[in-house]
Amino acid sequence: MRRIGAHVSAAGGPHKAVERAAAIGCNCVQVFSGSPRSWQRKSLEELDTEKLRAARSRHAVEPVFTHALYLVNLAAEDDAVLEKSMKAIAYDLAFDAEIAGAGVVVHLGSHQGRGWDAVQRQVLERVGELVEHSPPEATFLIENSAGQKGKLSTDLAEIRWMLEQLASPQVGWCFDTCHAFAGGYALGNPGARSPRKGAGCGGRSGGYAGSERSYAVAEIERLKLWDELRCVHVNDSRDPFASGRDRHANINDGEIPRDELEYFLSRSEIHALPLILEVPGIENDGPDAENVQRLLALVGEES
Ligand SMILES: [Zn+2]
Ligand SMILES: [Zn+2]
Repeated sequence: MRRIGAHVSAAGGPHKAVERAAAIGCNCVQVFSGSPRSWQRKSLEELDTEKLRAARSRHAVEPVFTHALYLVNLAAEDDAVLEKSMKAIAYDLAFDAEIAGAGVVVHLGSHQGRGWDAVQRQVLERVGELVEHSPPEATFLIENSAGQKGKLSTDLAEIRWMLEQLASPQVGWCFDTCHAFAGGYALGNPGARSPRKGAGCGGRSGGYAGSERSYAVAEIERLKLWDELRCVHVNDSRDPFASGRDRHANINDGEIPRDELEYFLSRSEIHALPLILEVPGIENDGPDAENVQRLLALVGEES
C-alpha cells in the first residue's frame, strides 16, 4: 500500500492533524509546528507527544512531516530576517525530533535577484549550522521550488550540490510536482516523445526548459538524487509548464498532463515514499477526501 498523505491543519495540536488526515483517507501527514503566519511558537514542553503517539497508532498514520514557515529565507541579506529564519527552522528541527517525525521540509528562500552563486556559501553554512545544532533524530529536507522571485532550489543541481557539501544522513530532499513542472521539468517519460518546449522560464536563472535536460526523472537520475529523496509533494499546477509560478491546483484540475503525473508516480524509486498533497481542495479549505481519491486512482490504488 502506498503512503498517501496531506498537509492538514494542526490547530488544537499535532494529534488533531493526525485525526484530520485519517478522516480524509490518509495514512501519513504533514503539519506546520504552529501558525504558518506567525514566527511565534509554543514551548516544546507544551506538546502532548503522548496524545500524538496514541493518535498515530490508533489511525495508523505514519510518518509525520513538518513543513517550515514560508517566511524563512536562509539567503536573506537582512540579518533580522536571517536570524528569525534560523530560529524558526531550529525550532522545527527540535519539534521534528520531539514528535519522532520524518523531517522538516524547507524552502531555502530566495536570492532576491543576486543569483545562486552569490548566496550559495551563506545558505550552505546556515543549513550546516542548523543541522549541527539539531538533535540527531531531526532531518532537514530541501524542497525544490517553482522559480518564482529568485526562489532557490528550482534547479535540481543546486540540491545536489547542497547534499554533497553537507554529506549528512540528517539532510535529504523533497520533490514537489507542481514546483518541478512550473520550474521547467516535465514529469513524463523522457523516452516517450521529443522534449516539450518551455513557455519561457519565469524567474528561472539558468532556464533550460525545452532542452533535453528538462525531464525530471532524467535529471534526478543524472544527478543521482533518488537515494536522498524522502518524500514527494503531489500537487497539480494552475499555471503552464515552465511558467515559474507557484500556484497549486487540485489533482487532475491543473496543467500537468495526467499521463505525465501518472508516469512520475509510477517510478519504482518512489514507490515506498510518502506522497503528500498540498492542494487547495474542492471547497478551498485544503486537501480533502476527493483529492485523496484522485491520487489513489493515479497510482492505481482506487478504493
Ligand atoms: Zn510542496
Ligand atoms: Zn508551492
